[in-house]
Amino acid sequence: MPQDYIATIGLEVHVQLKTRSKMFCGCRVEYGAEPNTNVCPVCLGMPGALPVMNEEALRLTALAGLMLGCEIAPRCKFDRKNYFYPDMPKNYQISQYDLPICLNGAVPLHDLAYPKDAQKTIATPDKKIRLTRIHLEEDVAKSFHSEHGTGIDFNRAGTPLMEIVSEPDIASAEEAFAYLTVLQQVMIYGGVSDADMEKGQLRCDVNVSVRPVGTEKWGTKIELKNLNTISGVRRALIFEIPRQIAVLEAGGTLDQETRRWDDARGETVLMRIKESAHDYRYFPDPDLLPVETSELVASARTRLPELPWEKRARFTADYGVSSYDAGVLANDLALARYFETAAKGAKKPKNVANWILNDLQSALSAESLAISDCPIPPEALDELVNLIDSGAINGKQGKDVFAEMFTTRKPAAVIVKERGLEQVSDTGAIEAFCDQAIANSERAVAEYKAGKIAAINAIKGQVMKLSKGQANIQLVSEILERKLAG
Ligand code: ZN
Ligand code: MN
Repeated sequence: MPQDYIATIGLEVHVQLKTRSKMFCGCRVEYGAEPNTNVCPVCLGMPGALPVMNEEALRLTALAGLMLGCEIAPRCKFDRKNYFYPDMPKNYQISQYDLPICLNGAVPLHDLAYPKDAQKTIATPDKKIRLTRIHLEEDVAKSFHSEHGTGIDFNRAGTPLMEIVSEPDIASAEEAFAYLTVLQQVMIYGGVSDADMEKGQLRCDVNVSVRPVGTEKWGTKIELKNLNTISGVRRALIFEIPRQIAVLEAGGTLDQETRRWDDARGETVLMRIKESAHDYRYFPDPDLLPVETSELVASARTRLPELPWEKRARFTADYGVSSYDAGVLANDLALARYFETAAKGAKKPKNVANWILNDLQSALSAESLAISDCPIPPEALDELVNLIDSGAINGKQGKDVFAEMFTTRKPAAVIVKERGLEQVSDTGAIEAFCDQAIANSERAVAEYKAGKIAAINAIKGQVMKLSKGQANIQLVSEILERKLAG
């Protein structure tokens, strides 16, 4: 972004709640079901059908608010938002207008939530993005367009949808990325939503304007609609911000428009110009009573989880893992749980973290496996790391055992036995190997004695060769140094 412009970005994020049934009827919430099978008169919008509130959806929304430091309104209500759209047969959406469940709060950004290539150049570390509100509403149906026409699937109609509205505190594509990443983590941590963007469980509208540095008045706000990947939001902003600046630099003006992101073309495309603000004629839904929230909030509070940043701090404090590694583990709840199970019985939890973040993660990604499908259970990894840390096998042997564990799912101890890998830690045997290696390495010995310390490595190599790689390297070093000092 040219230095002389400021971007102002606010996000509206729709999150599908993890409830078993829909917001105002008993129909199942189920991803990928046969179209129009989870429907009833209420979610099909039949005249006269009466909505019944889903308490769990209210509780999950309160929980989201608690996790993000919002104030939970003592009383909230539902309103009808009137507009016509083919995927919404009632011609109104039940939403919350002036009394949403949650107000204020904030999303704390952290370094590892930023895109990898931007983590070293964070403009405002530990920035907090303030929230305006979180409200609860119902989702609409989903249309499918094909050459035969358009079909509508009402399975999604009436599923509980939480809308999280941020203040326009976001200043760059990278901050928008970090914001969404943290939001997604928090939703998963709280069990509020699986927040799987591929399944449309987290969808985002972006409001963005630019203005010259030193001016107060905001530029014309342009809306980017329905982005469904976090990286897509980043790319859309990387395109859109300079586009707006270029228009202004060329002496043009910007219209209040709605645009969409064309991922294949890598550009934002005009959908419509906003002639005037919509008047949705909100009014309180006469079929739904206002909700006193105190009991819901109390029960939501009992479900408050440890949050990603709290977990990171605890991993650092309790297990001596570096803040970076702890952050990578805590970024992914499943990974964090794997680590914690493995680390429980570990002599050196830090080494367990290293194995997970290096060998395990690269083995998983080579096979395109998620941590939940990992062929090595956490306890088995812990056993392997303990074998290495106790000196029973050396690091190189550990790598081989790991590879075999990953393909055969056998426990480390069994593989070590089968392969006869027990490291030789018997000093007598190692002494003998060392004597033989010293006798074989006249030149290296002379160089070492003349002060070239590194020459000892050649002798060590001899010992390892003689022991077929099974000598305990720590002991080899000690014995060689002692022998050569004499
Ligand atoms: Zn229904
Ligand atoms: Mn909405």
